[in-house]
Parts: sequence; C-alpha cells; structure tokens
Amino acid sequence: MITLEQCLFWDQEDELKHLRNEFSLPEGVIYLDGNSLGARPKKALSYADHVIRQQWGEDLINSWNKADWWGLPTRLGNKLGQLIGANPDETVVSDSTTLNLFKVLSAAVKIQAEQHPERKLIVAEKESFPTDIYIIEGFIDLINQGYRIELIDGVTGLDQTLSTDVAVVVLSHVNYRTGYLYDMAEINQKIHTNNALVIWDLCHSVGAVPMALNETNSDFAIGCTYKYLNGGPGSPAFLWVNPKHLQKFWQPLSGWWGHQKPFDMAQHYEPANN
Ligand SMILES: *Cc1c(COP(=O)(O)O)cnc(C)c1O
Repeated sequence: MITLEQCLFWDQEDELKHLRNEFSLPEGVIYLDGNSLGARPKKALSYADHVIRQQWGEDLINSWNKADWWGLPTRLGNKLGQLIGANPDETVVSDSTTLNLFKVLSAAVKIQAEQHPERKLIVAEKESFPTDIYIIEGFIDLINQGYRIELIDGVTGLDQTLSTDVAVVVLSHVNYRTGYLYDMAEINQKIHTNNALVIWDLCHSVGAVPMALNETNSDFAIGCTYKYLNGGPGSPAFLWVNPKHLQKFWQPLSGWWGHQKPFDMAQHYEPANN
C-alpha cells in the first residue's frame, strides 16, 4: 500500500513541483482527471480575455493578419511538434482527433492501395478508445472497397495478425484504460517489415511521456490537446505526417482552408502544396 507520507515525500522530491503554481484548481481539490480534461493554466484567463476583448472585440477582421489567426494551425503545430519529436512544418493543429484520424486513415489507405492493392485489412485494438474503431468502421463503409477491420489484443495480437493482408495499423501509444505504453520504435519496425503503415493515436501520451515520431520512423500521428496539454474545452487536435509521405498525402475533406488560394474563391478545389 502507498501511504500518504510517501506521496507527500514524492511531491517534495518532484523536480517539476514548481509548475503546480502555473495551474488553477479549486481549494482542496486533488485533481486526477488530467487524462480527460487538463486543469486550467492560470495564464489562460488573461489570454482568453485578451483574445476576446482586443483581437475579436477591437481588431475584428484585422486579427486574421495582425494576430496571425491565419497561421495558427502551423504556428501551434510547430510548437507542439517539439513534444512529439517532429521537425518544423510537419504538424498542424486543427479539427478533432476523430476527424484527424479520418484524414490520416484515408491518406494511409490511399497510399497502400497504390502500392499494395491486395492489402485490405485495417488493424486496431479491442481496447482502442471507441471513437477510433467507430471512424475505421465508418470509413470502411463509406469507401465500400472490400476493406475489413480486425481488432487485436496488444502486441501478441499484432504478431499473430500481421500478414500480407494488413494495409494499416492504428494503435494508441498509451492505452486510455490500461495505461499500457507501446515501444514505438520496435512496433514501427515490426509493422514496416510487414509492409504495412502505422497511425499512432497520442491522446494519452502527448504531454505525459517523451516520444520521437521521426526518430522511430512513424508514418502518421494524431492526438488531442485538452488532456495532458491543458488546452481547455474545445481546443483543437493535431495531426502529424512523416515527410516521406507528404508528396502522396491527400486531404479527403477538401474544404477551402486546404485550398492553394482560399481567397481566390475559385470554383474548383486545388490542394495547397504546403
Ligand atoms: C480522448 C481520446 C480521443 C478523443 O477524440 P475527440 O475527437 O477529441 O473527442 C481519441 N482517441 C483517444 C485515444 C483518446 O484518448
């Protein structure tokens, strides 16, 4: 049994303990739900006030340029990239984790369909966060090209399932229920040896444990910013693509924000090349 004394001692020894001061929590609350909604940084209040009063209230439409609202997805992406082992210009912040999974799954399946059209299996874990499974099922249904989902049990399940049928594997770096942490490098190598691609869901690891997406040769990653990154309710998710896939990456949700010249208001979609 862990005792209260031990916990207090570990608190004293914790080299990050000074950061407790940066966060606001109600008096007397011991908050252990940062995996669901991170606590509020004290600075968030004055920053939100500035954005609403000044950037929105006073500067209005000028804030797209003056406050660089326009550049926020990549500006924040580059900041966040430092936590996940990404190089500049590989990460964007936008949409929800659910939508971002749809986007990277579409791209991964499209890349595989060109190189290995016989591979029709998308692998995920039985213990996946449910939205990941829902999106894979919905995607398979939508494209109607004979893809199947197979749900596995951890590393043993992966070893048993990896075969010439597997196109894409979707894994949570840290499992939201069990806390299991995958060895990213080892798993990536296993999956690539089998000629499949990997999508990492980082929701429960980003901001909590170190990771190196490029160094471990990952393919795609997604994650949210309102858990261990303390972005607040509604803060958008992120998406990372290994630069080796950029030329083949394809945006299935072809909206005007992904257009080469959004303000030309052109009639047809032309994907941005950056
Ligand atoms: C929290 C969480 C999500 C949440 O997805 P949203 O689209 O932000 O609601 C997805 N996957 C995992 C593993 C999560 O822990």
